[in-house]
Amino acid sequence: MAKKTVEDIELEGKKVLVRADFNVPVADGAITDDTRIKAALPTIKYVSQHGGKAILFSHLGRVKTEEDKEGKSLAPVAKRLGELVERNVTFIPQTRGKELEDAIANMQDGEIVVFENTRFEDIDGKKESKNDPELGKYWASLGDIFVNDAFGTAHRSHASNVGIASSGIPTVAGFLMEKEIKFIGEAVESPKRPMIAILGGAKVSDKIGVIENLIEKADKILIGGGMTYTFYKANGEDIGNSMVEEDKVELAKSLIEKAGDKLVLPVDSITASEFSNDVATQTYEGAIPEGQMGLDIGPKTVEKFSDILKDAKTVVWNGPMGVFEMSNFAKGTIGVCEAIANLQGATTIIGGGDSAAAAESLGFSDDFTHISTGGGASLELLEGKTLPGLAAINDK
Ligand code: ADP
Ligand code: MG
Repeated sequence: MAKKTVEDIELEGKKVLVRADFNVPVADGAITDDTRIKAALPTIKYVSQHGGKAILFSHLGRVKTEEDKEGKSLAPVAKRLGELVERNVTFIPQTRGKELEDAIANMQDGEIVVFENTRFEDIDGKKESKNDPELGKYWASLGDIFVNDAFGTAHRSHASNVGIASSGIPTVAGFLMEKEIKFIGEAVESPKRPMIAILGGAKVSDKIGVIENLIEKADKILIGGGMTYTFYKANGEDIGNSMVEEDKVELAKSLIEKAGDKLVLPVDSITASEFSNDVATQTYEGAIPEGQMGLDIGPKTVEKFSDILKDAKTVVWNGPMGVFEMSNFAKGTIGVCEAIANLQGATTIIGGGDSAAAAESLGFSDDFTHISTGGGASLELLEGKTLPGLAAINDK
């Protein structure tokens, strides 16, 4: 599955279309988190430094009506990008048309242009999101080479990724795309062993595909978070008022049977009488009484998981161990992060938006080998699915 990258292609003097993932949070015209812009810098700088004319674009949020455009322009992104690369970045407030075409025709080698939010094309018939072939062809016609660096949308078949690539223009991966595929792909398909998967988060239903795929690939799967209680119920354990998906109990039973001792469930929980940080907490081993809900894994589970993690050579983590947003229920996630941080010579990967946010807010983001920038895309890679955006990149 080796894909061509930006390093495999001549850029000098070429018009290089770069699909980045600039889908950043914007409030009152200001970017509140520029992580995604920073993640795109290596590719942008490389293209510019190698004499390519970098034509950048991305989606930002969802745009269905004219009103939705408010606050969804890429203008603030272009401005922030200019600060980060310390050079002039030209913003073109169009997704197509003369102004854009003229700006591209007048570009010098190494120059950087950003054009408007690709989803502005969704107002009139969802052309971007439904991969309208005319739109993909039009964008492809603006450049000589297509660099797809938008891992975060690789699980979607849109005009700005799959559409452009399908027009026949040479299509290569950017560095972020390459890094994501390398780390997540290798962890799942050819991991150093033992490979331990840690799966948590709120719902079993969000993670069925991941659990099913990793049952085949991992040496152990540690379960935490809200999904714990659907598995408990499948084992006939009392769960009090904990979150449960009744319609997934049978599935949980079959997963437990299939996985055998590969699947490790929490042995204790931190509970409370309501979903709140302001009421007293209790700790229960196994069953949870009526009136209490499990909101984090307990200390014995942290100890057990840490012990299993000690020998790990690959760790894939998706889904927090508890409601980490509330301090009373963050200890399980912190404990697991600490166990991962202590590993020597292991490849440790976070795939999952909230897990990445948890590691960041709890201060562990530097302790992982790789934190995926793509929530949905990383989840689908963990499920073993083929991502259309990735499949459309030329093979080496
Ligand atoms: P990710 O985005 O990393 O894939 P998820 O979206 O699946 O993670 O789950 C994250 C959410 O799960 C968090 O907001 C967290 O509060 C919630 N969660 C974790 N444990 C529990 C629990 N025991 N009960 C309810 N919600 C939980
Ligand atoms: Mg999430």
